[in-house]
Amino acid sequence: MLVDGPHQHGEQAEEGEHGESGSEPAKHDGCGGNKLAVLMKAIVIREHGGIETLDPTEVPDPELRPGEAVVRVRAVALNHLDLWVRRGVPGHKFPLPIIPGSEVAGVIEAVAENDRGWKTGDEVLVAPGYSCGLCVACLPGNDPLCPASGIFGETRDGGCAEKIAVPIRNLLRKPSALSFAEAAALPLDMLTAWHMLVARAELRPGETVLVHAGGSGVGSAAIQIAKLWGATIFATAGSAEKAARAKELGAAETILYRETDFLAEVRRLTGKRGVDIVVEHVGADTFDRSLKSLARGGRLVTCGATTGAEATINIRLVFFKLLSILGSTMGSLAELHEIMKHVEAGRLRPVVDRVLPIEQIAEGHRVLESREAFGKVVLEA
Ligand SMILES: [Zn+2]
Repeated sequence: MLVDGPHQHGEQAEEGEHGESGSEPAKHDGCGGNKLAVLMKAIVIREHGGIETLDPTEVPDPELRPGEAVVRVRAVALNHLDLWVRRGVPGHKFPLPIIPGSEVAGVIEAVAENDRGWKTGDEVLVAPGYSCGLCVACLPGNDPLCPASGIFGETRDGGCAEKIAVPIRNLLRKPSALSFAEAAALPLDMLTAWHMLVARAELRPGETVLVHAGGSGVGSAAIQIAKLWGATIFATAGSAEKAARAKELGAAETILYRETDFLAEVRRLTGKRGVDIVVEHVGADTFDRSLKSLARGGRLVTCGATTGAEATINIRLVFFKLLSILGSTMGSLAELHEIMKHVEAGRLRPVVDRVLPIEQIAEGHRVLESREAFGKVVLEA
């Protein structure tokens, strides 16, 4: 998802509204008045800019609050969201200073005794999005529509630190077959792709799906999920090597978008019919052709706009072909629990491009910006 673009909850964060978590982002100006604070290492973004704004520093340990646990971070995965939080987005205010990092796996360091079955030492995965869990949006599973929703590393402190405080309801058991790095690589992209395909586009068995950038975090998750649903998948890729890996994940056909126009190729592959669903997260460069790639009754579902957010569409095409254009961001906690069942069974798996020590976060950002990775870039503590 989050392949891109900031979320609107930023505004709420500005107003100091943090839902259940109730936690104001800590202001990382050293110990302030509290001379007894225990310090931990963390990456703090104090102002937007280049890679040099990723400031390795020391900040006070997170506090254990009621209804929350403190997790010792073992791995944190990078997302395009990290790039937006670092660079800033015109017209959008992030709550700086902030510790970035949305996807965390680690070990419970502190929790109220046996709070809802959790105890110190449990290995966990942290759901990247939080919300109140009690409102008219949360109860039916529309968590991202909750007025108090947010994402770690975007609207409150994230996991690029030794420890992070998270609501208990955000804890999931780390599958024992996965390393911490693999677990951290899972939640955000899987959840984003799941919500796009299953909840929004209502993918049905036997349909045809075009997945853009099959080597990206969302792309590699979308291929696996569409495969699980028995779909026929076409994936675009930037290189022959990435195309081969997309096929390993389940793509029936791959399209090298730098060499071939994907719209012409979709028409050729489908005998001019088009695909039922396009998983869009590229934006300006592809949106118009993505819409034209759809069969009658097709659905374009978008979660990002890494190449730009403005596009021109032919409205006539939309109504004549009964097309749907669907927006999607994140997903619900319930969906993440459902995804984890498939992960435990080995039907969905994290795709990790590389694991770097957290001290090399700048290199991680460079790899993400260069688009050379297939799957996730993960930082390990
Ligand atoms: Zn809510």
